[in-house]
Amino acid sequence: MTTSRLVIAGAGPVGTLTGLLLAQFGLDAGRILLLDARDAQSAAADARLLALSEASRALLESAGAWPAHAATPIHKIHVSQRGAWGRTLIQKEDYGLAALGHVVRYGELVEALHAALGRAGISVERGARVVRTEPRGDSLGVVLASGETLDAAYLVHAEGGLYELQDPGSIHRDYGQTAITAQVTCALPQPGVAWERFTTDGPIALLPCDLEAPGGLALVWCCKPTDAVRRSTLDEAAFLDELHSTFGDRLGAFLSVGPRSTYALGLNARRDIARVREFAIGNAAQTLHPVAGQGLNLGLRDAYSLATLLVEHFDAPLTCQAKFKAARRIDRAATVNMTDLLPRVFASRLAPVAALRGAGLAFLDLVGPARHVLARQMMEGQR
Ligand SMILES: Cc1cc2nc3c(=O)[nH]c(=O)nc-3n(C[C@H](O)[C@H](O)[C@H](O)COP(=O)(O)OP(=O)(O)OC[C@H]3O[C@@H](n4cnc5c(N)ncnc54)[C@H](O)[C@@H]3O)c2cc1C
Repeated sequence: MTTSRLVIAGAGPVGTLTGLLLAQFGLDAGRILLLDARDAQSAAADARLLALSEASRALLESAGAWPAHAATPIHKIHVSQRGAWGRTLIQKEDYGLAALGHVVRYGELVEALHAALGRAGISVERGARVVRTEPRGDSLGVVLASGETLDAAYLVHAEGGLYELQDPGSIHRDYGQTAITAQVTCALPQPGVAWERFTTDGPIALLPCDLEAPGGLALVWCCKPTDAVRRSTLDEAAFLDELHSTFGDRLGAFLSVGPRSTYALGLNARRDIARVREFAIGNAAQTLHPVAGQGLNLGLRDAYSLATLLVEHFDAPLTCQAKFKAARRIDRAATVNMTDLLPRVFASRLAPVAALRGAGLAFLDLVGPARHVLARQMMEGQR
């Protein structure tokens, strides 16, 4: 007998939003099952701070899963490079928006998404690791680490993950960078301003984050892996001094730093899964460098597109596969290329490249349309 159940492997933000949208677009909630390998507490404890675009906020809000109480708005983005001229400003007024985006903690976002799942009546099984699939003609066998096999019409791969823990995909690049993340405070806070400063060792992002203290900042400091190891064990004063001398004086001295975490960075993307009835979205499809905060924003757009197509073409898996591939091709390629190019161009120590990128930032600032193209890609991706 043909099953009509749809299984989503991974109840992170991308998998969970997919489940919510499927139900919202008309699929019976009882036919959707989310499986996740980890427990709810460890997802909620993930302290990563994420910059989400205005389009992502609207999508999450439409799914009843926007953690408004825990989101700090971004009104302005200041992009510059260390030791060179040129900078560009992206401001909410230029786009007629109340905010360019928001900063939220991963754990709070997942909690809001899971509360919405509960309200929608969608089941989540914890401690359930998907290990492989078995083709069964007009359905799939989804095999779990426990040995159990579930019958499913579709499997959505939303297992996500971090670059260093994933099997290499067909598009793969190690940037030789590690990100240190932490919450910091500074002497001259500028509420609502996000800072992206490029250095030859990697970009430093300081995002507005009022969670711990008004005027607080979420730091993502990309640097050489050896420096990341050393900096994560420095005492607080030495760490803050080194951050100040690397970032510059725009925010004055840095005053405090919370617990520090590190993440190895790289690009790991796979071309579409050739198997019918299986789809990969979010980090399971493409894990990106965090420059310009694009990874989850792209994954949420994957989720929207896939949910729309699955509801429209549930009984036509080949049509659904072809339409999904076509729908996501340009946005994925543009976002992968942008996040792949930026850290490499700004890491180059060649003098002509340094001069050009300074001129590039100045050009972006002077020429409205060029800045708008960059801003639109960061805020909305390609549709
Ligand atoms: C330092 C850093 C900063 C970042 N900043 C930003 C930012 O500012 N903006 C932005 O948009 N993105 C950012 N990102 C990227 C963002 O974190 C990811 O794109 C996002 O978390 C991907 O969501 P996901 O749901 O695809 O995967 P995940 O968040 O990894 O969730 C996957 C889920 O699947 C589960 N799972 C794994 N394997 C299995 C299995 N076999 N079976 C069942 N379940 C499984 C896991 O337990 C997990 O719950 C950043 C990333 C890093 C490292």
